[in-house]
Amino acid sequence: MNLPAAGIESLNALAQALDLGETAAPLLRGLHAFYAEIDAEIAARAAPTSLPCAQGCDACCHESVFVSAPEFLGAAAALLALGPEETRRVVAEMGLLAQRFADELELLEVLSPGAERDEVAARISFRCPLLSTAGTCTIYGSRELNARSFGQTWDELRGEAYGCTLTHARLRVLPAEDGPRLYSAREARRRLVSSVPGAGQVRVYPWWFERYGALLDVR
Ligand code: SF4
Repeated sequence: MNLPAAGIESLNALAQALDLGETAAPLLRGLHAFYAEIDAEIAARAAPTSLPCAQGCDACCHESVFVSAPEFLGAAAALLALGPEETRRVVAEMGLLAQRFADELELLEVLSPGAERDEVAARISFRCPLLSTAGTCTIYGSRELNARSFGQTWDELRGEAYGCTLTHARLRVLPAEDGPRLYSAREARRRLVSSVPGAGQVRVYPWWFERYGALLDVR
């Protein structure tokens, strides 16, 4: 990733603040190696089903998206590469969203996984500031794991696809065994946690940006 010196300094400061190391580069290399591997495995399992999920669809970018610290670092690196103006815009919009959903974000910190937590998370619904006006992800190559698995994987705990209504509709016209043949969304998350340091805790983008966005203020 080509960044000016100030961008690299910001990124290293962010890596330190997130407790991910002195410099961001080694962690980002590991993260992108993981993304390449998991993308290939998810795509290979999804290939026979012709699911509607494809680059350019933003169906999953209008609801709460949970990311871990290294995923946030990866997104921040890609954002910094878009330049200071765009970085400031996204940080400011994410900050406003954090204020708008302050009650929900506070609740997510104390609720255990379950129906109540899911209901609170569902209330955090917004158009992701990282979406372009044309509806494409501006950091596509560095988008979080959930965006990579959403619409193309299977949630064995819920016994249904991890995806939007379009995915569910497509699977309904396929043989019943095709769904469970998809890659497991939970396994993808487990692999991220075991192969990339610091990936255990997930929070929504506005939470991360509100706390750490000031470190990205490159002038
Ligand atoms: S980062 Fe990109 S893929 Fe993820 S929610 Fe935002 S726009 Fe969508």
